[in-house]
Amino acid sequence: MWSFETEPEFQRELDWIDEFVRAEVEPLDYILGSQWNIHAPAFQRLIRPLQARVKERGLWACHLGPALGGRGFGQVKLALMNERFARSRFGPIVFGAQAPDTGNSEILAHFGTEEQKEKFLKPLLANEIVSCFSMTEPQGGADPMVFTTSAVEDGDIWVLNGEKWFASNARFAAFYIFMAVTDPEAPPHKRMSLFLVPADTPGIEIIRNYSFHGEAEESHGHIGLTNVRVPRSSMLGRRGEAFAVAQARLGGGRLHHAMRVVAEATKLLEMMCERVVSRETKGELLASKQMVQEKIADSWVQLRQFRLLVLETAWLADTGKDWKAIRTNVAAVKAIMPSILHDIAQRALYLHGSLGLSTQMPFSAAIINSYHVGLADGPTEVHKVTIAREVLKGVTPSTTLFPSYLRQTREDHAAALYRDLID
Ligand SMILES: Cc1cc2nc3c(=O)[nH]c(=O)nc-3n(C[C@H](O)[C@H](O)[C@H](O)COP(=O)(O)OP(=O)(O)OC[C@H]3O[C@@H](n4cnc5c(N)ncnc54)[C@H](O)[C@@H]3O)c2cc1C
Repeated sequence: MWSFETEPEFQRELDWIDEFVRAEVEPLDYILGSQWNIHAPAFQRLIRPLQARVKERGLWACHLGPALGGRGFGQVKLALMNERFARSRFGPIVFGAQAPDTGNSEILAHFGTEEQKEKFLKPLLANEIVSCFSMTEPQGGADPMVFTTSAVEDGDIWVLNGEKWFASNARFAAFYIFMAVTDPEAPPHKRMSLFLVPADTPGIEIIRNYSFHGEAEESHGHIGLTNVRVPRSSMLGRRGEAFAVAQARLGGGRLHHAMRVVAEATKLLEMMCERVVSRETKGELLASKQMVQEKIADSWVQLRQFRLLVLETAWLADTGKDWKAIRTNVAAVKAIMPSILHDIAQRALYLHGSLGLSTQMPFSAAIINSYHVGLADGPTEVHKVTIAREVLKGVTPSTTLFPSYLRQTREDHAAALYRDLID
């Protein structure tokens, strides 16, 4: 069965989301600070009532199953919802579907012990707290083999030492998920484990917070870990299984980033369209110029292609439920999304002229954000390598000097096959 239709009942929910976000959530982007600063008085006053409306409507944390307070909608519906609510930077948190908490809650749900779920997952799902996933280190992020942060056993305690880098929301998080080397002599992918560590554990220091242009507050932490002592029960998943657990998180995480990019690029395209039907030059609308039309057409096509890839990947995730099996799709989504956002943002900027370049418009920030989505969760190059590796897996090399599809070879084969039926 193959269908692009949305059930009428769910379409009603999407329409409600669209209206609600445009009218009540999007305006907050202009007056509030970081969307993870959940204890700020303004967040409490403005965001909590909106979250209550979403909960009342039954649209809270929809990526999770009913046992965890969600609706178990799965990835396709989540993608369609994100397309509406992620046009506002507060949309995801108003709907209980913000990164990195979505991914962190998924691995806690899958790999956490009952005690860990009670302590970390429950308040996380209620957005009473936010979390941070911290694996990157200052000496390199794209190659986890260079990570050196260590966890050493001391009786019933693990002692963590090292430095972590660009850990998003570190300063607002109630707990961290740290990746640390527990078994230095093990094979490369079995050396590290994950630890759930409350943010107020002695020995954790945020050395400095970083931000990129367009962000409301500095919130990517350079973290120092000095003799951070945590109980044995802090390990998330099995010892040496950090990559396997993180991978489960990154599949969904990457797809959710892509869904948010669809929303952001859609919004930029809407702005571009309004501009070209409003602005005149040399006696006619920008929209009448063919080179402008090309920009609109290319943007629409690129966005549509990307949206289809995202939805196909979401559908595969919902039907197969196995991120590993669909890693080519996930890597493709991750690899292409920076250029989609970048291309559409730069066309939108350019078509707005000097105004487009100014800070009154969101285009420069969107261009920078395209580099954010390219780098976070691993740079584009690494994902292209994955795509190529998967695509080439199982491809049989030609055993002759010329390719197996040489026309002469194919003609000889066809002639032999249908010898009796052709003149
Ligand atoms: C906004 C933002 C938020 C982030 N949030 C988090 C977070 O919450 N938690 C966390 O742990 N990390 C986070 N990161 C870190 C992110 O995962 C790393 O930035 C990323 O993995 C790249 O690592 P790096 O910055 O050290 O760059 P490097 O590893 O030094 O790579 C630099 C460049 O080298 C090239 N390159 C690298 N590897 C290859 C290759 N195999 N083939 C070809 N070229 C290559 C690419 O052009 C790459 O951009 C975040 C990053 C950003 C920008």
